[in-house]
Amino acid sequence: MNEMNLSKRLKRVADFLPKEAVFADIGSDHAYLPCYAILYQKAVKAIAGEVTDGPLQSAKQQVHRLELDAQISVRKGNGLEVIEQGEVSAVTIAGMGGALIASILNEGKHKLAGHERLILQPNIHAYHIRLWLYQEGYELMDEVILEEDGKIYEIIIAEKGDQDKPYEGMSVEAGMLVGPFLAKEQNHVFLRKWMQELQHMENIKGQIQKAAPTEENKERLKELNAKINILKEVLTVG
Ligand code: SAM
Repeated sequence: MNEMNLSKRLKRVADFLPKEAVFADIGSDHAYLPCYAILYQKAVKAIAGEVTDGPLQSAKQQVHRLELDAQISVRKGNGLEVIEQGEVSAVTIAGMGGALIASILNEGKHKLAGHERLILQPNIHAYHIRLWLYQEGYELMDEVILEEDGKIYEIIIAEKGDQDKPYEGMSVEAGMLVGPFLAKEQNHVFLRKWMQELQHMENIKGQIQKAAPTEENKERLKELNAKINILKEVLTVG
């Protein structure tokens, strides 16, 4: 992959950048997303943030090679500490687990002025992100689920607004687990993901039921049953 031949996953992230975006890509690795966004005029300025030296150097080299140093600032730092409050119109965080993305947002929330669009692409556990967004008064504006190279990814787009709006007509708990927009659409990727998860949960449930009925196992069974019920409800009601 490179800036010209960007993954379908990152191209979809770039599709949601606001017009003439000035954005920060946190955990940018090779800075492929900022380079692509500038080259294809999806953004006018970008910050590539990286906490790790190896990826930071890759990002610097990539930006320099493409002579994009005037448009892309590569900065070392943990999460949102690389931006000044009010500096960007959007933040992208892609290719990490949902819990890590949520913790980056939470640790750096004082850096967000409130007008930024957040475009978040968790590889797993999107629930943590939806929960954080809900608690912080962000409204989900759209969601995408896609498959690439046998892996399923979700993209969540949020802005400050009415956090309850996307969950109208459904339980917030169910919506946070599967995504309110994705649950309404129920495309084939969504159905494959959650059918597989449901099967996996049923298998674990079977194993726990065969094990000793300890308090811990009873608790796990309770949590699992609650999730299984939510999924069955979502997948049948559609
Ligand atoms: N965003 C790219 C993508 O979607 O292909 C790269 C994803 S890569 C798996 C995750 C990158 O995030 C790594 O380069 C890692 O060093 C960086 N990272 C992890 N935690 C971070 C943090 N708290 N702040 C900045 N970068 C971080």
